[in-house]
Amino acid sequence: MTFVRDNISRLAGYVPGEQPQAGKFIKLNTNENPYPPSAKVIDAVQVAAQKLDRYPDPVSTAFRMAAAEVLNVDPEWIVCGNGSDDILTILTRTFVDQGDLIRLPDPSYILYRTLAEIQGADYEEVRFQEDWSLPESFSAPDPRLKLVFLPNPNSPTGTMVNQQEILELADRLPCPILIDEAYVDFAEFNCIDLVKQNEKIMVSRTLSKSYGLAGLRFGFLVAQPSMVEQLLKVKDSYNCDSLSIAGATAAISDQAWLQDNVAKIRSTRQMLQEKLSQLGFEVIPSQANFVWCSHSTVEVKPIYEYLKENRILVRYMSYPNWKEGLRISVGTDDQINACLSLIQSKV
Ligand SMILES: *Cc1c(COP(=O)(O)O)cnc(C)c1O
Repeated sequence: MTFVRDNISRLAGYVPGEQPQAGKFIKLNTNENPYPPSAKVIDAVQVAAQKLDRYPDPVSTAFRMAAAEVLNVDPEWIVCGNGSDDILTILTRTFVDQGDLIRLPDPSYILYRTLAEIQGADYEEVRFQEDWSLPESFSAPDPRLKLVFLPNPNSPTGTMVNQQEILELADRLPCPILIDEAYVDFAEFNCIDLVKQNEKIMVSRTLSKSYGLAGLRFGFLVAQPSMVEQLLKVKDSYNCDSLSIAGATAAISDQAWLQDNVAKIRSTRQMLQEKLSQLGFEVIPSQANFVWCSHSTVEVKPIYEYLKENRILVRYMSYPNWKEGLRISVGTDDQINACLSLIQSKV
């Protein structure tokens, strides 16, 4: 296509997990929450729907104040986005020029590569070590390196890099590092406090997974105010709409709902991991709301297809220089039991 920038015509484009519009599927493929969000979210969105004639607050002040209280940071440390994917876009537009380099671990979230390609930048993937820590080369200096992405917990593995390691990485790196905490509410620790210790460390969160609000589109970033000031210049003027600001504010204010939900997901995750192991799968212990499993003697792609025929969607993933496997989102106990009994008939 002649009118388009070269890097865009070459781009394959990010393909999200399947979202079937019709028919009833048990969806265990995109790490959505199987439970409905807090009722307070629905109420808040209904109230906000009464005044859609006005532009929304450009910086989502209500959310920043509510989140600041929960996270124990000042509101000026928070940038809100139309999902955390929007936050990732704001970061690449702020830090990464044509010909620059973005570093990410391998395997990890595919969208990071697409974001690099849109900027006309290169990306470098660094393999995790056997124990899911990162090698020295992940923090190696490179004059072209402008941004590092680290999902923590990682997808599709559900593994984590510890805080000490992240602090050391940030010390050595010549550029900012984003800790993508999309799944952190299901984990044992998080990295918000590290943001205060090194201005290169930034943390992003989303309401799509742990708050059950993937359809609302709301995510946010925590960074030092000097960074936030720059990022706010880059974002769209009204990147969050009135409904999502109201819903997200109600959601983050209802921490009792979150704790209750996380407890249910963790308990089902434990059950899923145990039963998959009993069925002979290799399972990586997960700190997220999904479980990665592979099998040394059974092909997993036919299992994915068989589940789909029976209206259960999981994610089949194949990494050319690692392995193939299934990433199964943690649903309700009933959904997971239905999935497991189909899998059992195939191994
Ligand atoms: C789901 C996910 C996101 C995106 O979340 P949204 O807020 O829905 O855009 C970002 N990073 C990772 C690693 C994810 O898995």
